[in-house]
Amino acid sequence: MAEKLVKPEELAGGIDYKPKQKDWFDPRVEFRRGTWNYAAPPDNLKYLDLPNPRKWSPTDEDWKLPDNWKEIILEGLRDRIKRFRSLQVFMDICVRCGACADKCHFFIGSGDPKNMPVLRAELLRSVYRKDYTLAGKLMGKMVGARELTVDVLKEWFYYFYQCTECRRCSVFCPYGIDTAEITMIARELLNLVGVSIEWICTPAANCFRTGNHLGIQPHGFADSIEFAVDELEELTGIKVDAPINKKGAEILFVAPSADYFASPHYYTLLGYLALFHEIGLDYTWSAYASEGGNFGLFHSHEMMKRLNAKIYAEAKRLGVKWILGGECGHMWRVIHQYMDTLNGPADFLEEPVSPITGTRFENARSTKMVHITEFTSDLIRHGKIKLDKSRNDHWHATFHDSCNPSRAMGLLEEPRYVIKNCMNKFTEMPENTIREQTFCCGSGSGLGTDENLEMRLRGGFPRANACKYVHDTKDVNILLCICAIDKATLPPLLEYWVPGVEVGGIHELIGNALIMKGEKRETDLRGTPLPNLAPAEENTEDKAETGEEGEGDV
Ligand code: SF4
Ligand code: SF4
Repeated sequence: MAEKLVKPEELAGGIDYKPKQKDWFDPRVEFRRGTWNYAAPPDNLKYLDLPNPRKWSPTDEDWKLPDNWKEIILEGLRDRIKRFRSLQVFMDICVRCGACADKCHFFIGSGDPKNMPVLRAELLRSVYRKDYTLAGKLMGKMVGARELTVDVLKEWFYYFYQCTECRRCSVFCPYGIDTAEITMIARELLNLVGVSIEWICTPAANCFRTGNHLGIQPHGFADSIEFAVDELEELTGIKVDAPINKKGAEILFVAPSADYFASPHYYTLLGYLALFHEIGLDYTWSAYASEGGNFGLFHSHEMMKRLNAKIYAEAKRLGVKWILGGECGHMWRVIHQYMDTLNGPADFLEEPVSPITGTRFENARSTKMVHITEFTSDLIRHGKIKLDKSRNDHWHATFHDSCNPSRAMGLLEEPRYVIKNCMNKFTEMPENTIREQTFCCGSGSGLGTDENLEMRLRGGFPRANACKYVHDTKDVNILLCICAIDKATLPPLLEYWVPGVEVGGIHELIGNALIMKGEKRETDLRGTPLPNLAPAEENTEDKAETGEEGEGDV
């Protein structure tokens, strides 16, 4: 990858925000290498029962669309306007105030006006106007109405796959217009004629075929967990139990598949295993629901529903009381925003109650699914785990609020509470780049591919820039996050823009700081010698740092 990329200074210096002379009505797009994604392969479209499976490339002149492609899309739009009241509202109420215009990381990193959320939405809205409003029918271009043509369809593909559905723009819109929802509908319409991308359809097909996005088969999944158990024993001297498909367990634990396969995700997995052992949790993994993530979110409501259903079917089959979910982004957007009307409410499960603290997670009354940072912060708050913060003294961390847990779920305090209780050195990035205003990694919603690397580096530029600030001024050397896509895409982003900053999960740091009964530790979970290692017998009591005690719900 590196030899094909320009230097960071050149990429940043070449961003041109001056208004372009070209009329935005002109839909023609240059499919420049590094700025688009490969098409979905026909085999996986067939596997998912999706329309128009064929070989094609975005650079082809002929996209081999069905003869009646235009009718299919316009009928699809009519159907969705009827079904989703929000879409009708978003099509009608934008006053083009421009408050969202400079809030998108893709606009900031590319200078391309069609990456302004207002103009991105206008690409769909202009077609809506032409066919669904009287003014558009009568006055056409004068009122911003456009015909749907093949060039418009290609333009949709280019720009709706340059939106990570992060929802940052919606935070600044006085009307609450959510451009991510507009992107989701535009992608659904493209899917109707077989226009979709590989890094969404292949993971979705894998998930049906083997249980997870990465296509790891059940025995491979079991081997990975077993390998992690052995490795944790080497690191801590403690052999933990990690049951899979255990019927009657109290809790089903679901994590993104990258946690047991990729790095640095894997260290988070080691942290979960150590934590669950130490508190004696009665839980199980599942080989069928071996994926928490949901690439269906990036494809269509129907695909999101199909993938989400697997988790709940497995909870029912195994007879668990409730579900605990790991460090993932899109899993939580789906659970928090859509699950109840897709497959819920999950009345066959119980309202989650922590078996360790007795805390009732009323916020999960309907979905029956609790986020791991809610669960762990509750353990800390009740003094149920012993943590030695100094074991993370080789790290100075900052925290990247992953778009979905922060903006879609409001999970802002719990991750910070856990971090501050398991390490000494923590610095926030500038306030307009964190919490609800967090900047996206630039590679979410299926865009984290090698072929799209230039666009990812551009889209990730604002996040990297904020990280560079705390690296340069405070010597921050690790960016923590609670999303598997972030853990995959932030390392190359930071290697490009901010060398010297690593990426890690919060439960990796918990796993480092956790004082386990009978442990023998010399290194952290990455195998790095631990700073300030206390003798093993002292570790069991005196060095515990447990946060303040408290009662009640989180
Ligand atoms: S902030 Fe909202 S109303 Fe203003 S231009 Fe953007 S989408 Fe339209
Ligand atoms: S949802 Fe995110 S990526 Fe999409 S237009 Fe809004 S800010 Fe940009």
